[in-house]
Amino acid sequence: MAESVIDLRSDTVTKPSAEMRRAMAEADVGDDVFIEDPTVNRLQERAAEMFTREAALFVPSGTMGNLTCILAHTRPGQEVICEEAGHIYNYEMASMSAIAGVLPRLVRGEDGILTWDIVSKGIRPKIYYRPQTALISLENTHNMAGGTVYPTKLSEEICDRAHDAGIRVHLDCARIFNAATYLGENFVDMTKKFDSIQFCLSKGLGAPVGSMIVGSREFIERCRSIRKMLGGGMRQAGVLAAAGLIALEKGPKRLQVDHDHAKLRATGLAAIPGITLNPAKVQTNIVIFNLKASGWSSSRFLETLAKRNVLAVPVDNERVRMVTHLDVDRNDVEKAAAAVQEVFLR
Ligand SMILES: *Cc1c(COP(=O)(O)O)cnc(C)c1O
Repeated sequence: MAESVIDLRSDTVTKPSAEMRRAMAEADVGDDVFIEDPTVNRLQERAAEMFTREAALFVPSGTMGNLTCILAHTRPGQEVICEEAGHIYNYEMASMSAIAGVLPRLVRGEDGILTWDIVSKGIRPKIYYRPQTALISLENTHNMAGGTVYPTKLSEEICDRAHDAGIRVHLDCARIFNAATYLGENFVDMTKKFDSIQFCLSKGLGAPVGSMIVGSREFIERCRSIRKMLGGGMRQAGVLAAAGLIALEKGPKRLQVDHDHAKLRATGLAAIPGITLNPAKVQTNIVIFNLKASGWSSSRFLETLAKRNVLAVPVDNERVRMVTHLDVDRNDVEKAAAAVQEVFLR
């Protein structure tokens, strides 16, 4: 692809920096299935330490991280409460049903954000002939709701009340550092009540591959076996963990820039007739806007936009998602908004 393409499809499209590539080339490695890769071990220890938890586990993808946690928390035939636009339900190949044998129980939250009131309506009564709720899974930031952030009070209340009811809570926080940046809060405080968390190194943080699961030592040991069962036992994975370590140390600090870029683009897009978008709702690095009033379908719009070297993804027939990341600068953001305007003026 030509250098001049502005790729706003996802924050996963970033390429590893020169510093990361150097660290990958020089990484001290061993066989991680024997738990002998010093760089993987260091990444896991660092993640656990940062989140002040007992242990962490490096997994090849966020999807495998979420599935591993679900398998560790549930038995076949149980239910997992999740938000209807959530990643875990829409973009993970129904793995919780196909592999873990559990049923998603969908609830809907305004802008993807659930409250205990909403969640509790999905909890099954404890009757022997009814399926039982084993787990609640929250998503922060909520990807398909447009990168929205949980107020910590709301997620804490869900954790506390769920625990009182004997139900565990998992956090799919692929973009936890974006959420923390938006709130101006510490990610440790935001996540401390969850039984397990999964976050991605491969998104805004800039690593080429990988996610982390964080939890208690006993939980992570169970996850290690499950990861192997899923085919996620990697060997000299230190070459990947070396990039992950840099992503973890340096990535979180620069996310405000991505958020500023997203806000800038949202403001520019909202001014274009035919686009429906409330820039006040753009909290992090994801911008979703509606094209319905313009008469364009998402697919025709995106094809036309691609001819102007700007890439984005459809959410559905009417809505388009653009994501900012470390490989786009302010100039790219402005060029992208201008390209959208040109498409409509044609
Ligand atoms: C990206 C993402 C994941 C995991 O994605 P992978 O592509 O499997 O790494 C999980 N949850 C959310 C909310 C995501 O945005």
